[in-house]
Amino acid sequence: AADKEKVNSVAKIKVVVRKRPLNKKELAKNEEDIIETLSNSLVVHETKLKVDLTEYEEKHEFVFDAVLNEEVSNDEVYRETVEPIVPIIFQRTKATCFAYGQTGSGKTYTMKPLPLKASQDILRLMHHTYRNQGFQLFVSFFEIYGGKLFDLLSDRKKLCMREDGKQQVCIVGLQEYRVSDVETIKELIEKGNATRSTGTTGANEESSRSHAILQLAIKRSVNGNESKPPRVVGKLSFIDLAGSERGADTTDNDKQTRMEGAEINKSLLALKECIRALDNDQGHIPFRGSKLTEVLRDSFMGNSRTVMISCISPSSGSCEHTLNTLRYADRVK
Ligand code: ADP
Ligand code: MG
Repeated sequence: AADKEKVNSVAKIKVVVRKRPLNKKELAKNEEDIIETLSNSLVVHETKLKVDLTEYEEKHEFVFDAVLNEEVSNDEVYRETVEPIVPIIFQRTKATCFAYGQTGSGKTYTMKPLPLKASQDILRLMHHTYRNQGFQLFVSFFEIYGGKLFDLLSDRKKLCMREDGKQQVCIVGLQEYRVSDVETIKELIEKGNATRSTGTTGANEESSRSHAILQLAIKRSVNGNESKPPRVVGKLSFIDLAGSERGADTTDNDKQTRMEGAEINKSLLALKECIRALDNDQGHIPFRGSKLTEVLRDSFMGNSRTVMISCISPSSGSCEHTLNTLRYADRVK
């Protein structure tokens, strides 16, 4: 009962906004910080032009579960977002943490350290609170690019997805590493991140068009029977989403880019719908909309928790993208 209470005390959906500092490029262009933050709200000061070309300001206010300003460290981001959900994945809960936002808004900067910090906490719980209870930790890391799956811990080996009879998602051939120390986890995360950003063409551009998914799975052997494969108890997924502006690449001259843009657009829309359905406890969750949501299917079923971190640039030059990101986050909430 106490365990159930622990699970129930964590919000089903949490939406957090993180604002990054102005960067050198923005400062060089004399762009201004147009985002005013409070602890759980923010105001976007948009400059608009009248017909006679005089400027006026339009304010847009948004309220979220938390707003993290440019002074907030990655450690504090962890404490605010993922730390509260770590203990409940030992209680048959699946949790997902997303980073959403335009390219350059700080998604990867925000997401990169989170799985390592979470693994540290998971291992600590396994070694202390749940000592000798047969829990095991597994790591996998893959990406969805153009609607296809690639293993980031296996030289981008192409993967395919299958559903078993029990509506569990199975990614055929995905490498899962059993880990028991932080150093190994760190190496795997670095390997996956390096595989992601170099990709096949070596262009950094590519990472903005893919969703990177790192999963930490907690498993346990059935009745301490080591000869049978352990069963999944809980899962924690970290998703560095494709740049939200890429979803608008649907009129690009290049066919490949257009197709990728359409896929990204579809997946971000489907994701929003799935999270909203979760919040309303709707029986029907529209997974089928995209590869991303199909892959996450089991994380949206049963006892699940979602944390959305919306990353924004403070700069006047990004005003439109920032408003789009905040509106998306607002719809999810
Ligand atoms: P995205 O993954 O959304 O495209 P990145 O995470 O790569 O964006 O961030 C773009 C740049 O901004 C990187 O150089 C990153 O180090 C820097 N950056 C992002 N967020 C912050 C922050 N909160 N504090 C300092 N630098 C940041
Ligand atoms: Mg990135």
